[in-house]
Amino acid sequence: VITSVEDKDEELVTRPPVITVMGHVDHGKTSLLDAIRKSKVVAGEAGGITQHIGAYQVETDDGAKLTFLDTPGHAAFTSMRSRGAQVTDIVILVVAADDAVMPQTIEAINHAKAAKVPMIVAINKIDRPDADPDKVRTDLLQHEVIVEKMSGDVLDVEVSAITGEGLDTLLESIALQAEILDLKANPKRQAQGAVIEAQLDIGRGPVATVLIQTGTLRKGDIFVVGEQWGKVRALIDDRGERVDEAGPSVPVEVLGLNGTPEAGDVLNVVETEGQAREIADYREHAAKERRAAAGAA
Ligand code: GDP
Repeated sequence: VITSVEDKDEELVTRPPVITVMGHVDHGKTSLLDAIRKSKVVAGEAGGITQHIGAYQVETDDGAKLTFLDTPGHAAFTSMRSRGAQVTDIVILVVAADDAVMPQTIEAINHAKAAKVPMIVAINKIDRPDADPDKVRTDLLQHEVIVEKMSGDVLDVEVSAITGEGLDTLLESIALQAEILDLKANPKRQAQGAVIEAQLDIGRGPVATVLIQTGTLRKGDIFVVGEQWGKVRALIDDRGERVDEAGPSVPVEVLGLNGTPEAGDVLNVVETEGQAREIADYREHAAKERRAAAGAA
């Protein structure tokens, strides 16, 4: 229903990588995401603390921007993929240096490989007296993840989410991996994005955090998203501030929806409200028929 646009080479610009953190429970995914966020909040900056909208952006000392999905774990990654929204460019595989490769580590490796997304290994908890990073590296060999120190090409970084050691190196490695991937998008076309999370907010109505994948989303834009449609009433960034537009790899909260979409739904800007309503109605109808058919089977 929605025509895809061919981008001309000269319209393409480099966009920040989108990163998902995966790994075994308790290996430090949440701590690492928190530590990265905190280390990059400029002191005295408005608000100081980023607000939780499901994703956030940081800037490295070299000025490279990185977008982190704030929902660690595999469920988010696989449910987004199963809905057709492949948003992750780089997977950070967190492995605790005082533990080993565990079942969910292996699961994460398999997810990343299936999605053909490059991995960077963060060997976490390096501050622990019983940390043994080389054991992690050897363990990973058995799962065909060969890190640089083992003469492979998977970047690996020793970090501590608690002391902050290695965090800058990790961010530099991500920026390096992103350069290799040569990620590009066309900010001048109509926006397309993926819903990271959505909920019905008592005061604000349906709110969706959308990660823009290509194009630029602006206030007033009319869009369809899954079975819903809307007109952008306001855009709010990861600092809780209102913005007029959001370009590629930028996460924003979108207000102005007529209903609540689901994580993994794709947002597309269209020309008219009539079009938006028609596409949303068609999808809703098709989804109802699919459910009825599934119920009858
Ligand atoms: P997740 O389940 O992978 O998200 O793991 P969490 O971030 O919740 O961390 C699990 C536990 O490990 C918590 O008690 C953390 O404080 C601790 N932890 C996480 N990172 C580190 C680290 O770098 N060093 C140490 N010593 N403890 C850590």
